[in-house]
Amino acid sequence: MMSGLACMYFQDPSLLQFQQRLEDERQNNNLKSLFEVETIPKEGQMRNLIDGVDRDFFRPIFKDFFSKLQRGKHLESYQLFPGKYLVPIDGVQYSTSKKVHCDKCLQKEHKDKTISYSHSALQGGIMHPDKRQIIPLMAEEISNTDGTTKQDCEMNAAKRLLPKLREDHRQLGIIIGGDGLFSKQPFIEDLQQSKLHYILVAKPADHKFMNEWLTAYPSLNTHEHSDEKGRVYRYQWMNEVPLNGGEKAPYVNYFYFELIDTCKKTGKEKVVYRNSWVTDLEITSATIVTLVKGGRCRWKIENECFNTLKNQGYFLEHNYGHGEKNLCFNFYLLTLLAFFFHQIFELTCATYQSCRAKFGSKRHMWESLRAYIKILIFSSWDHLMNFSLKPTKYLADDACQPP
Ligand SMILES: [Zn+2]
Repeated sequence: MMSGLACMYFQDPSLLQFQQRLEDERQNNNLKSLFEVETIPKEGQMRNLIDGVDRDFFRPIFKDFFSKLQRGKHLESYQLFPGKYLVPIDGVQYSTSKKVHCDKCLQKEHKDKTISYSHSALQGGIMHPDKRQIIPLMAEEISNTDGTTKQDCEMNAAKRLLPKLREDHRQLGIIIGGDGLFSKQPFIEDLQQSKLHYILVAKPADHKFMNEWLTAYPSLNTHEHSDEKGRVYRYQWMNEVPLNGGEKAPYVNYFYFELIDTCKKTGKEKVVYRNSWVTDLEITSATIVTLVKGGRCRWKIENECFNTLKNQGYFLEHNYGHGEKNLCFNFYLLTLLAFFFHQIFELTCATYQSCRAKFGSKRHMWESLRAYIKILIFSSWDHLMNFSLKPTKYLADDACQPP
């Protein structure tokens, strides 16, 4: 498992081969010193072993590192409201193929009768509108179980995720963020049952009854301000509105936001962004601006998490292997853990931050780190970090001998 994590951590599928070559008669390699790997497995062997590992193996790892961040007071600035953290959730597809598949694959039949096989996960993470770093939480696999022909989906995965999230973080104030898919009665009841708050997108077209109810008011509560560019931020809200026309409809608090820009040439006003949400948190003129920021924060999971995992060095969609049981999802989780650890360094480690500043881009930094571990053996992660900050010092000291 640590060998697999090392590949994701250094974002290098060929890492194992390189370390095997490094292993000289002194039996030294970086996997041993940095990851406590005693014997480097062959790649096929590693895949077979990881394929058989149950996903629940990972749950306490995410929880442990979360608790460490919390105890170190690194999460305090992530509170959206006192004692409450925003956790947007969204689905991500990380493997797709027309040939390779397993029993757990989601299947989609196309018009030409061919079938695509894929793996997806529902991912949540603690986010804050003013923070770049995301604290990922344990993901829920979206996959078919043996013996059923019905396809699993994001909504079912979300229903399984909520009680687990509550169990792993019993005392934590959690606000679930989600797109329009989730602002439906049964899901809101599930949220209430797990004692979770929510901010969910609610498009007018999906909520006709609620919309008619809102238009029956002579006016909604409003708030407005503008920024230095002259753009106008317009807010509207109403507390205690029925979500639908059903007898047992849950009552929700509704809010709407639009951003208006004025065209310099014509002087005409133009809405450049608009969206509406429902929440269980009370809306007042003191909370509305933060609520909208929280609602708009949802794009971060797509941009700062999934996009980074797919296109910024983590090769999330790289085919490391499919397996027959859990390999696909376990590789996803190992990638997510590597991302998590790097986020922790960004938040807490001064040496790492100096490295990031020195190399300019993340890509350049990881390229250099990969190059160093291919030719030199380091006694620890700190050793590697300090070396990359000042290689000449170490090389002159003879502290880092080539193998
Ligand atoms: Zn599969």
